[in-house]
Amino acid sequence: MDFKQKIRVVQDFPKEGIRFKDITTLMKDGEAYKLAISNIADLVTGLDVDVIVGPEARGFVIGAPLAIHLGKGFVPVRKSGKLPGEIVESAYDLEYGKDTLAIHKDAIEPGQKVLIADDLLATGGTIATTIDLIEKLGGIVVGCVFLIELTYLDGRDKINGDYPVHSLVKY
Ligand code: AMP
Repeated sequence: MDFKQKIRVVQDFPKEGIRFKDITTLMKDGEAYKLAISNIADLVTGLDVDVIVGPEARGFVIGAPLAIHLGKGFVPVRKSGKLPGEIVESAYDLEYGKDTLAIHKDAIEPGQKVLIADDLLATGGTIATTIDLIEKLGGIVVGCVFLIELTYLDGRDKINGDYPVHSLVKY
């Protein structure tokens, strides 16, 4: 399937100069959504994973179905002030703004093997911060998967680990 045909590109949203990749048009198509998740799962075949971590909010719509597909648990990384339990936090920059991400302290056991999933790799700021949070808890990142990668932003350069980084659709 040509997933690019299913993704709506909106010029100058939410700021001038951003070409926003809108995945709602892919997700509303049940066949495309299911195939995208199954193809992302194929990208990580053979990887030894205990748990999937996905950052708010679009990391949930990729990470949670991927976790179910792989029969693994899902751990959310959220913006500051959203998680009710004890948390660790980390500040970050993104393509169009600044924010703080948090994870529950008891969400990951030391030594657990973590696969990170998100909708889109842009500058890599979100993923670098997510990696930081996982490693603060003693988790071991074993890979990162994305539905979309904006290769021209070189977000991969911010992911310096010795593990695979895969994306289904590249711009
Ligand atoms: P970054 O931290 O720069 O890698 O960007 C992380 C998040 O910002 C992605 O997971 C997207 O949800 C969102 N994002 C950044 N750039 C875009 C874009 N051009 N289109 C759609 N979403 C974007």
